[in-house]
Amino acid sequence: MSVDTQRETHKFQAEINQLLNLVINSLYSHKEIFLRELVSNASDALDKLRFRSVTEPELLEGASELEVHLIPDAEKGTLTIEDTGIGMTRDELVKNLGTIAHSGSREFLELAAQRGQKDVNLIGQFGVGFYSAYLVADHVEVVSRAAGKDTQAWKWISDAKGSFTVEPAERTTRGTSITLYLKEDQKDFLDEWRLRSLVTQYSDYVNHPIKLQVKKTTGEGDAQKTETKLEVVNKASALWQRSKSEITDEQYQEFYKHLTHDWEAPLAWTHFRTEGNQVFTGLLFLPKNPPFDLNAAQQRGVRLFVKRVLIMDRCEEMLPQWLRFVRGVVDSDDLPLNVSRELLQDSAVVKAIHKHVTKKTLDMLEKLAKDKPEDYRAFWKSFGTVLKEGLAVDTEYREKLGALVRYESSREEGLTSLADYVSRMKEGQKAIYYVFGESRKAVVDSPHLEALKKRGYEVLYMTDPVDEWAAQGLKDFQDKPLVSAMHADLKLEETEEEKREKEQRAKGLGPLADRMKEVLKEQVREVRVSDRLTDSPCCLVVPEGGSHAYVERLLRERGRGMPRAKRILEVNPTHPIIEHLKALQEKEPASAQVTEWVEMLYDQALLTEGSSVEDPNRFARRMTALMTQLAGPPKHTPAGAVAAGPETPTSEAEPSEGAAVAAGPETPVRPN
Ligand code: ADP
Ligand code: MG
Repeated sequence: MSVDTQRETHKFQAEINQLLNLVINSLYSHKEIFLRELVSNASDALDKLRFRSVTEPELLEGASELEVHLIPDAEKGTLTIEDTGIGMTRDELVKNLGTIAHSGSREFLELAAQRGQKDVNLIGQFGVGFYSAYLVADHVEVVSRAAGKDTQAWKWISDAKGSFTVEPAERTTRGTSITLYLKEDQKDFLDEWRLRSLVTQYSDYVNHPIKLQVKKTTGEGDAQKTETKLEVVNKASALWQRSKSEITDEQYQEFYKHLTHDWEAPLAWTHFRTEGNQVFTGLLFLPKNPPFDLNAAQQRGVRLFVKRVLIMDRCEEMLPQWLRFVRGVVDSDDLPLNVSRELLQDSAVVKAIHKHVTKKTLDMLEKLAKDKPEDYRAFWKSFGTVLKEGLAVDTEYREKLGALVRYESSREEGLTSLADYVSRMKEGQKAIYYVFGESRKAVVDSPHLEALKKRGYEVLYMTDPVDEWAAQGLKDFQDKPLVSAMHADLKLEETEEEKREKEQRAKGLGPLADRMKEVLKEQVREVRVSDRLTDSPCCLVVPEGGSHAYVERLLRERGRGMPRAKRILEVNPTHPIIEHLKALQEKEPASAQVTEWVEMLYDQALLTEGSSVEDPNRFARRMTALMTQLAGPPKHTPAGAVAAGPETPTSEAEPSEGAAVAAGPETPVRPN
């Protein structure tokens, strides 16, 4: 087949079709962002070329200037965005502009649906920015020639009606031209001033010259001549290399949006240049909202430049994993231009930058927390969980992170800092107390808090799985240890009277203690008298080195094969149920009711810590039996007929205690 007749038609992949439909029919606002997206693609293509030309200088042959050109043509009604970048081969055209399943396209469709399908501003964030061309054009032609010797140019054409064609084309130099046949009502994008102002607004910080083709008329009368020329319309210098005093807040914000495709301004930024051992410039931003794939590995890192040349889009070596939400630019003067991944991993230069960038980020957070608590709360909501990972893995930043964490507490709804907690600590209170559970609701009435509440101590509510490790990593704050109200070694300060009372109580369990141990020998490692209970009969506490039940459960759910670690059962000897059991145990050492009630108490303790009981049916049956007995016989039924359920032995109207006790473990229990 000869090259000239080689036109192929390709169907758009289904999701792209859906996306195009949305773009064409439903998105009304911010149509002008198509220019930002196409210029950004052109600029990326120039960056890629510059990077490759470090090792393959011949790629620059034929057109050494790296530029973006905007060419409006009023007669044809077209706007062309042209670059001298890396270009695309035929296969790349097909793959990049139509067939590959960008994971972003589906995400974008979902988000657009959520937001009423009106706001197109975020399209670039999802890696589908190219299609924004169809906001303003009904027909698009892309001619591209990949950099390199003897490459063939190709033309991609589509009306966005389900398919596109690809055919060979003519183009003398490498790069890409995208020609938009503007819709009737979008012709004002041909206007010189409109284009100028859009470039200044959205693309001023693009690192390459953006040149606009303008018509100049000179002379008068017969001598009048119209000529076209290209004029640079952007600053074309790296924003981070300018001095801070020359940059406005708006420019920082626009640069951030350019960098991240975020539609919202950042919460904060920090811009610095280091001198001395390592010379580098950093411009770091704190986004307001998490990206849709915050946890995806490729999302991490800052854009790395070496002497103004873009080396890597996402350089993760510059930041710890727990600052993966930070976006920005690092531009080093010391790294070699041909820096490789391997080199990055054990470069002393990189380690020094990493450390400095981490410190600068933490400073930025501290300042935000101090100056703009509202904004800091927004940050915490989006990224607090990620930041807390730092406590678990990087003890070096323990102190700084301790000042940044926020928790709910028993004081009131809303978040508190540890510093504020400490400032509210009671006379004699030695530690910062916390409980750990699935939600505020799950921990607020936890029996573990009873003694603390009685003393008027505030308790932090930790509800995030990472908190278990974060609290262990933090250890203390302002010399006050962090202590879990659920841990075995909770030692509260006691008055003399309390001590005496406790000793009294410790004797209290008597033979019941041994009986409980015997009944629960498979479930708990120890049974002991509790200091922390005032209202509840018992609770389970975590032995030294053990995990909270909630974390254990999560790990198990995630298939980590966590065995249920045996916990310690703490008992409140002055609780009426326990007193009853004590008396019964002394009177009838073989009582089956004791066994049954001890098992029920254990089940309750499991439930209050958020765990599930081992045998829910047995638990429910026993509860039902108890309630049935409490309810007594219904009015119109003869006594005795009530208790006719399968598990309920027929009882006499006045069963003797001995009868119930003798009936074995499945017998309904009766309150005394
Ligand atoms: P993204 O830029 O986020 O990758 P786009 O939809 O904007 O998503 O672009 C899709 C892909 O098309 C780009 O990743 C790039 O490979 C290719 N592309 C688009 N425009 C150009 C261009 N001017 N030069 C070279 N490649 C381009
Ligand atoms: Mg793009």
